[in-house]
Amino acid sequence: MTEVLEAPAGERTEIKPIEHWIGGQRSKGESGRSGPVWNPATGKQTGEVAFASVDEVDKAVQSAKEAFPSWRAVSLAKRAELMFAIRELVHERREDIARILTAEHGKVLSDALGEVTRGLEVIEHACGIPTLIRGYFNEQASTGIDVYSIRQPLGVVAGITPFNFPAMVPMWMWAPALACGNTFVLKPSEKDPSASIYVAELLKEAGLPDGVFNVVHGDKVAVDAILEHPDVAAVSFVGSTPIAKYIYETGSSNGKRVQALGGAKNHMIVLPDADIDMAADAAVSAAYGSAGERCMAISAVVAVGDVADPLIDAIRKRIPKIKVGPGDQPENEMGPLITREHRDKVASYIDSGREQGATVVADGRETAPEGDGFFLGASLLDNVTPDMDAYRDEIFGPVLAVVRTDTYDDAVQLVNENPFGNGTAIFTRDGGAARQFQFESEAGMVGINVPIPVPVAYYSFGGWKNSLFGGAHIYGPEGINFYTRGKVVTSRWPDPHTSKVDLGFPQTR
Ligand code: NAD
Repeated sequence: MTEVLEAPAGERTEIKPIEHWIGGQRSKGESGRSGPVWNPATGKQTGEVAFASVDEVDKAVQSAKEAFPSWRAVSLAKRAELMFAIRELVHERREDIARILTAEHGKVLSDALGEVTRGLEVIEHACGIPTLIRGYFNEQASTGIDVYSIRQPLGVVAGITPFNFPAMVPMWMWAPALACGNTFVLKPSEKDPSASIYVAELLKEAGLPDGVFNVVHGDKVAVDAILEHPDVAAVSFVGSTPIAKYIYETGSSNGKRVQALGGAKNHMIVLPDADIDMAADAAVSAAYGSAGERCMAISAVVAVGDVADPLIDAIRKRIPKIKVGPGDQPENEMGPLITREHRDKVASYIDSGREQGATVVADGRETAPEGDGFFLGASLLDNVTPDMDAYRDEIFGPVLAVVRTDTYDDAVQLVNENPFGNGTAIFTRDGGAARQFQFESEAGMVGINVPIPVPVAYYSFGGWKNSLFGGAHIYGPEGINFYTRGKVVTSRWPDPHTSKVDLGFPQTR
């Protein structure tokens, strides 16, 4: 257990226990292990989350396994109806969910609402399951023989999710997985776990049968128990690259289907003909929104040719106008970072950047609100080069690096040589250059004058290179494929005229 220092009576905050959700009810942690949950805006501990043991993970998997046969037999009409009911409840309670996100993650309320809305879109897509899961049919593939394909659920599937989208990323997984007829075990981030329990209660209220959706909290012990469990058929993971690689390798070697989405270093190229104000607005929004804790955040702006000076000037002028403060106060645009350690690590890139030769245009430590919250203001480094830590690492905070290049080709080379390939964007008025960039850039999601090109729910989300391990992107059509397996049926109904003994290999002609 985490040691909680005694605070003076007036300053004491109640520390709520955060439990698992197994078989349609809360389940007290029994492992004796737990971790602290903070309000990042105040720096105070607000919760203590139970960490599941191997046995507790097994209990959740068994509950999901028992629920599977009857859940997969529920008609598509009823499953779709239930997804609509879930959609209505999540929509109705979206502000409650957003408040939980703000309290534990720190993002401002408007951003938290945006997160829930993008998650809702994936639930809405899953409402179309009767058509999404449809197979193909060929009559008379051979004389008297019909062939058709069907897609069936996998069984118990698991999701392991990061801290930065505690509601949306789980929705990317459970909405299509449940709609396809699977049962689910979620292991959310231990840093902001409460939203998952709130959503579990909503799913029950909407009418989801007990055991179909389960939540276990925890750390590596819980994750490894999922990866090694013989009854878990598939694992979806979203998080940092080293863990994504580990999840992919371990899950696959245990015979599971795995999709593991990793970290990012998203470049935004600005060509000399770009609209400077539009590009500066986009860079500021995409670099500092959610305090830079988005896998689709822009963390490197590549300024081509003589656009650099006016662009940096335009970004610099916008930074002091960003209102940084607690996320529950409506005037604020940027909240704190997730933990004190993470804030300090992010801030260290300002120093390493300076030491390695970058120009510090804005130092967010000077503009962070006072107090114990884990705040860091918007920070800007100019003249960053590819050998600097601030360029090489995924910082995951409000530190934007500007790299200057002479030509478009140099800029594209930077994007394509980067080990990550999640998203990238180009700002230009030249349609030919934009189309060329779309053709040759090595990333899974590309924005043309759009800085955060997160695909809509009826496309799929995913990167290339070290941003994705395993072939399948998440949600959309690839999500439906991931959570189902194909079966092809070749059928012939009794016809005495065509019946004969034939030892040859089946032929269609
Ligand atoms: P993280 O990798 O530290 O944690 C993700 C999950 O893995 C959590 O549930 C955590 O408990 C678990 N985990 C952590 N360490 C583990 C270990 N050693 N063994 C087994 N499990 C472990 O990621 P995070 O800090 O929560 O999230 C931020 C990262 O996620 C960033 O790198 C960001 O780019 C990435 N991310 C990627 C996407 C994407 O779609 N590609 C989306 C959101 C976040």
